[in-house]
Amino acid sequence: MRTKNFEHDNRISARLQNHFEPELKERLGELRAQGLYRELRRVDSPQTPNLEIAGRTFLNFSSNDYLGLANEPSIKHAAIKAVEQFGASAGASRLICGSLAPFHDLEEKLAAFKKAEAALTFSTGYAAALGAVTALLGPDDFVLIDKLVHASLIDAAKLSDAKLRVFAHNDLNDLEDKLKWVAAQRAQNSKRNALIITESIFSMDGDLAPLKEIVELKDRFNAWLMVDEAHATGVFGNTGRGLADQIGVNHRIEVQMGTLGKALGASGGFIAGSRTLIDYLINRARSFVFSTAPVPASAAAASAALEIVDSADGTARRKTLWNNVAALKMQLNLKSVSGPIIPLILGDETKALAAAATFFDRGIYVPAIRYPTVRRGAARLRVTITAAHNEQDISALAESWNAAQRDLIS
Ligand SMILES: *Cc1c(COP(=O)(O)O)cnc(C)c1O
Repeated sequence: MRTKNFEHDNRISARLQNHFEPELKERLGELRAQGLYRELRRVDSPQTPNLEIAGRTFLNFSSNDYLGLANEPSIKHAAIKAVEQFGASAGASRLICGSLAPFHDLEEKLAAFKKAEAALTFSTGYAAALGAVTALLGPDDFVLIDKLVHASLIDAAKLSDAKLRVFAHNDLNDLEDKLKWVAAQRAQNSKRNALIITESIFSMDGDLAPLKEIVELKDRFNAWLMVDEAHATGVFGNTGRGLADQIGVNHRIEVQMGTLGKALGASGGFIAGSRTLIDYLINRARSFVFSTAPVPASAAAASAALEIVDSADGTARRKTLWNNVAALKMQLNLKSVSGPIIPLILGDETKALAAAATFFDRGIYVPAIRYPTVRRGAARLRVTITAAHNEQDISALAESWNAAQRDLIS
């Protein structure tokens, strides 16, 4: 129901006489013409393998809730308990009005989980990326990013004002060439720093970075390394500690980043590393210093999730997840699958939209991913599978994918 106030607002926008409204409408029209227009779809249920949209139930293959924790009772109870004990809001930035206990509990758990000296949480992974990179680098420095890193890391690199070089995706030769160029620049001024940024499992392609080789390169060129484990946290490694831990290079990475809103089923982002790094970020990460702390409930939820991830239940969930990944790989007849993110590349933006529509008509929710999330002409369906899916779900997805491919040909 529209309130009086809302109607009033509508009248204000209609009264604007300048070119503000027409210009934005024109820009939106261009997005529509290119198949790039996006809109929100209201969901009336929690994030589980089933989503309720407009009174209809859809099978959900779109979320990053890899371990099926987003609606887990013990995590919900931890959040509710934190609301009862600490209230609904943190009140201000943690440096202003005091730092609530649930954040400290969570950060101690995260540090232990990542086998790091310390950790610092941020309101989102996006804020963690922005805060860390801009605190560490300035205009005299260099930042080298993989071509396919997440927008938060691209924005962070740009905002830092450091000289930005993009290396070809997972291409060690290109990275080495760029490091050689950086070394030549740094030869004249040893105070200039260089930071390499990559993801451990890439968010839209689902493939893995050659972390061991990248660590060796960064040591050889005396650079620093930041690894975003947003999609590996909780998923990779025996205990879900991430890919860096799995291959034994975690202690050689200066800045380890992760998020709490994906496999951990809560919300927020974090940086783990040395005590010195964390003390420095508390002082200099602007997205931490100048932002109200997240709600205490989200910290408590993430703590409860970490306990599950690190338990026998977590191990069992990862086992189910990896079995599901293998089953999906077989049913979709895919050659290489590295984890629970499975891109079905269609190229053309309108094709991706059409395929997503076929799924939707058949009661399956799979998002079409388009520019600017991926490059133009690399549009895709991004299928994500979780520990909460079952065999029937996977068969239904495979059938719909066959139908979508038939629809595209005819
Ligand atoms: C989701 C994501 C982020 C951002 O984390 P949020 O908590 O969603 O802000 C950062 N990096 C990668 C690789 C991501 O996939």
